[in-house]
Order: sequence, then structure tokens, then C-alpha cells
Amino acid sequence: MSIAENLHRLRTALPQQVTLIAVSKTKTNEEILQAYNAGQRVFGENRVQEVVPKAEALPKDIAWHLIGHLQTNKVKYIAPFVAMIHSVDSEKLLQEIDKQAAKNNRIIDVLLQVYIASEETKFGLDFSEAEQLLASPGTSALKNVRIAGLMGMATNTDDEQLVRKEFSSLRDFFDRMRAQHSQLVHLSMGMSSDYSIAVDCGSTMVRVGSAIFGER
Ligand SMILES: *Cc1c(COP(=O)(O)O)cnc(C)c1O
Repeated sequence: MSIAENLHRLRTALPQQVTLIAVSKTKTNEEILQAYNAGQRVFGENRVQEVVPKAEALPKDIAWHLIGHLQTNKVKYIAPFVAMIHSVDSEKLLQEIDKQAAKNNRIIDVLLQVYIASEETKFGLDFSEAEQLLASPGTSALKNVRIAGLMGMATNTDDEQLVRKEFSSLRDFFDRMRAQHSQLVHLSMGMSSDYSIAVDCGSTMVRVGSAIFGER
């Protein structure tokens, strides 16, 4: 199957209101252009060093989403152009994004990464940390960053029930937070292996790489 065919199949399978992020990490500009020429405009990358040259070389109407862990000292390189950052997991990172967005006269949309998997990981906030960050006066004072939603990754497992339980728990938390913070509109969950479960559980954005571009 070609990249264009994979995209077409996915778009047909996804409800219209779900945003498809084509995860193009490790893929070449030529491969990205095949997706672009098939109509795709939203792409996800997980490394700053990779997204910066791609954004320079590729069409300017691409919306680049940073989906991987982000170090504070690298925010400045993506602040001029990044459309959304999915991986915010600390107040310090939020403050740095605000500062760099202000320098660029921009408001940058971000998602808080919430830890839902039953695997060890260094990244993500737990529910109570995310809740505290959303309610903190320090967060509300930031003028150039907008927390527009939440992102989560389920356990990498064949156990569908576990994945469903994890996604549902994040959807429930999202709904609870949204009742207090109306700016929360996006719920980024689901990848190649589990996007249909994620959509069932109320995802609004799926991040799909290998099911579009092939194995990495
Ligand atoms: C790589 C990656 C994806 C996409 O993974 P696939 O299995 O290729 O669909 C989604 N989200 C994040 C955070 C990633 O790093």
C-alpha cells in the first residue's frame, strides 16, 4: 500500500471530527511530501533536531506538532513555527514555552501529557499533578501559552481491555477538567496499534506513524 492509500484508508475509518496527525519521525522529506500531496497538512515529530530542518525545507502550510519529550533548552528552536506541543509535563517547561512564544509574538497551544500506562516511564504527569498545574495561579498568569487539552499513551500491549481502561480513565479525567477549564478542547490519544480503541474512548486527535508510512 502506498502512503496515499494508507492515508485514504485511515481518513475513511476515522470520524470526521477526529484530527489525524501523521507522525513522520525518521521519514524523509520525499515521504512527507507524498502524504502532503495526498492532502495531509498536520504532521507530528518527536525530536527538535529533526523537525527544525523539515519545517525549513517543506511547505509552509504544514502544521508541525511536537509529540515527543521536550527539553527546556530546546524550546527556542521550535517556538517560531510549532503549531502544538503535546508533551508538556512540568511548570518549568510551560514557563519556557510562554517566554519563547512571547519573543515570537505568538500564543502556542500545548497539551499536558498525562501518564496512564501501567509501564515505567519518566514522562508525564499523574492526574493530581495535571489537575494542580491546571489550577495553579502561575499557569493562569502565562499569556503566550494556552493549555488546549491533554495527551496520553496507553500501555504497549495486546490486552485490549487494559488499553480501553487506560484511555477511558483519561477521557473521564478530561471531561472532569473540562468542566472547570473551558479552554480544554483536545484529547490526543491513539497511535497505529490502538487508534480505533482510542477513538471509541473519545479521542479527538490520533497520532499515527507506521500505519501511514510503514515500519520505522
Ligand atoms: C512515534 C509516536 C507515535 C506514532 O507511533 P506509531 O506506532 O508509528 O503510530 C505516536 N505518539 C508518539 C508520542 C510517538 O512518539
